[in-house]
Order: sequence, then C-alpha cells, then structure tokens
Amino acid sequence: MSTSFTPEQTLFRDTVRDFCEREISREFVRRCDETKQPPRDVYEKLGAQGWLGMNIPEEYDGAGAGAVEVAILLEELGYFFLDLSFWVFRALTWGGLAVGRDATEETKRQLLPKIATGELAVCFSLTEPDAGSDAASISLSAVEDGDDYVLNGQKVFTSGFKASDLVVVATRTSAEGKKHHGITNFVVDTDSDGLTWNAIDTLGHWPLGTAMLFFEDVRVPKDRMLGQLHEGWADLAVYLRYERLCLSAARTGAAKAALADAISYAKEREQFGRPISKFQAVSHRLAEMQMMVEISEMLVYRYATRLDQGIATTRDAAILKLYACEAYKEVADMGLQVLGGYGYTMEYDLQRHFRESRLGTIGAGTSDIQRNIIAKTMGI
Ligand SMILES: Cc1cc2nc3c(=O)[nH]c(=O)nc-3n(C[C@H](O)[C@H](O)[C@H](O)COP(=O)(O)OP(=O)(O)OC[C@H]3O[C@@H](n4cnc5c(N)ncnc54)[C@H](O)[C@@H]3O)c2cc1C
Repeated sequence: MSTSFTPEQTLFRDTVRDFCEREISREFVRRCDETKQPPRDVYEKLGAQGWLGMNIPEEYDGAGAGAVEVAILLEELGYFFLDLSFWVFRALTWGGLAVGRDATEETKRQLLPKIATGELAVCFSLTEPDAGSDAASISLSAVEDGDDYVLNGQKVFTSGFKASDLVVVATRTSAEGKKHHGITNFVVDTDSDGLTWNAIDTLGHWPLGTAMLFFEDVRVPKDRMLGQLHEGWADLAVYLRYERLCLSAARTGAAKAALADAISYAKEREQFGRPISKFQAVSHRLAEMQMMVEISEMLVYRYATRLDQGIATTRDAAILKLYACEAYKEVADMGLQVLGGYGYTMEYDLQRHFRESRLGTIGAGTSDIQRNIIAKTMGI
C-alpha cells in the first residue's frame, strides 16, 4: 500500500475488506457476470452497513464521510467486484452528491434516507445518440406544463438503469444562447409513464448493464429539479469530477486484483523447468504493472484529499481519470499476457478485467477528452 491512512481510515478499509472476503466470492462474481444479474442482496447488505449513504449528510441518515473514505470503499469493492463498486459509486455520486447537494429540501428528505439503505438505487443519463463527447449539445427536451416538466427525447448508454429506481437526467430547457446554458437536471422515477428502455449488448459490465432510454411525454414534478433552471451544466461539472474520483478508485482496486492474479499464476506456472515469474520478460511485466497500480493509487488519494480540502481542480480530475483508466487497461492486458493461452479462456478472471478495463478510456469522458482538458490548462 503506497498511501498513508489515519488509524480510523485503516480500520475502515480493513472492515470493508473483511466484509468483501465474507460476502463476495469469485464464484459469486462469475455467476453474476454470466447470468447478467445485479448483486442485489450484497447491495442491500452494503446499505445495512451504512456504506451506500457514506457521503449523505447525517441529518438525512447518512454517514457524512469525506472523499478519502469514499475512495477507500470503492477501491476495496473494486478489487472484489468492479460492477458492484460501480453500482455503489452511482448511489454516492447521483444520490449522495447530486441529490444531496442540489435537490429541494422535500426531495432530499424523501429520497436520501432510502438511497442510504439501498431501497432506492440511482443511475445517470447524460449521453445521447448525437451528444457523446460533446455532451453540452444534448437535445432531450423538458418543457414546463403546470406543476410538471414534460420530457421528450432519447438517451443512450444509461448504465445500471435495469436495477435503478431513479435516474438523474440532463435535459435541454432552453435553446437560447450558448449550448452550455439551458441545461437542467431532474431526478426521474424509472417507472414513469412514457419512459421505456432497451438493453444494449456490450463487451463487459454485464451484471448492471447499460441501456437506451426513450422519453415520450414523461411528466416530472417541478420539485424533482436539481439546482437552478437552465444552470445545470455547472452542477454537472461538479458531479462528473466526483464521478472521475469514484471510477478511478474502483478501477484501481480492480487493477490490483488483476495484478494479484497474474503474480499468483506466474509463481505457479512452470515452463522450461522453472516458474515463469523467474523469466525476466515476465517479472518486468509484473514490475510495470506494480508501478502503474501504485501511481494510480497515489493519484486517487491525492485527488480525494484535495477534494476534502476544497482545492481539487478540473485538471487534477482529468489527470487522475486519464492515468488510472489507461493503467487499468494496460494492467489487464499485460496480466492476460502473463497467463498465456489460459488468460484468453473464460476459466480465469483476467478475461473479465480485459473486457471491463476497455471501458475506462471511453466512458465518463474519453482519454482524448481528458488530454484536451489537461492541455487547455497548460498555456500552450
Ligand atoms: C458501457 C458504457 C457505459 C456508459 N455509461 C454511461 C452512463 O451511465 N451515463 C451516461 O450519460 N453516459 C454513459 N456512457 C457514455 C460515454 O460517456 C460516452 O460513450 C463517451 O463520453 C464518448 O461518447 P461517444 O461514445 O458518443 O463517442 P464520440 O464522442 O463520438 O467519440 C468518438 C471518438 O472521437 C474522439 N473525440 C471526440 N471528440 C473529440 C475531441 N474534441 N478531441 C479529441 N477526440 C475526440 C473520442 O475520444 C473517441 O475516440 C457509457 C458508455 C459506454 C460504452
């Protein structure tokens, strides 16, 4: 471990790790993956531990914890079960942060205690068929009508929708002026009349999956608006930076698991009369993986600490997301190589890391977009 925690944080990490060792076996993860089933029982147990409401203020039945504790939780969960860690990050980002920061008082009182127990799960819907990297060009419309807004349009890649009760939806409420103006966010019930969906087949992240959403005259009460009318882009930027921390922490845990599997295989597998770990080509590959995991971990806790201190920048978030996600992809790829032909079979978990790590450099802002963000801050 390359990061120094306080005694309380170390105790918390050990408690989460013990929980995962008890509740999340490899066989369980494989079963959820193969059957594409969300691990609902474990999710509810995480709620019973108080971990789904970690960043929810205590007055709404949460733990009021900071970003470092959130990162510890997600890194540990990511080590054992990446898609479960993603499910939890959605509760923390779209529940604890988005609803906790920007919902009306009544909506907070109504939703947050249930998000904290796992009774209500949340996901997020920004991307549209014609608005991916250029996310501010979304067109799904929300038009005021009496006490409601009426939503019409289409979204794509809304992950975890099939297991969610609520979805935070970014909408277009005004086409006047710059595209970043006129965006408004709402918390929508996933079983609203007029809201239908199709599953999208993907390379990985099967337990929670991702979906295409269709909104046809979906009515959302006005008090489900997050923040101010037309001013949602600035709030989204806050949520997306937090999401980058959460995803990076979870993937750092997963990268550690891929490394651990590669090390244990390399020590056991013998060729030419000795363990393959004794060949320099293999040991150097493992050394490279170790280095990337440790740098990812340092960046995760550097960013989490800065968030807690109120000094985190957009560039910090981009550097973290870019590095940690590229690192997981590389670590998974190299790990698979260490296992040779067996890495390519469905018998070993490296194939899942290989498939799931591929999303890291695409989702939540591609690596190219992170590089754009960093370059913009460099005066070049
Ligand atoms: C499995 C999965 C889960 C997802 N989950 C969610 C979710 O839960 N909620 C949600 O809202 N979205 C989600 N997304 C959407 C994701 O964030 C987008 O796919 C991503 O932002 C890229 O958008 P795009 O796919 O439209 O690619 P495009 O924007 O079309 O990009 C295509 C290529 O062009 C490059 N490119 C585009 N613009 C630039 C530029 N200005 N400079 C340099 N290169 C550029 C990109 O880097 C990329 O390589 C998910 C996506 C996937 C695949």
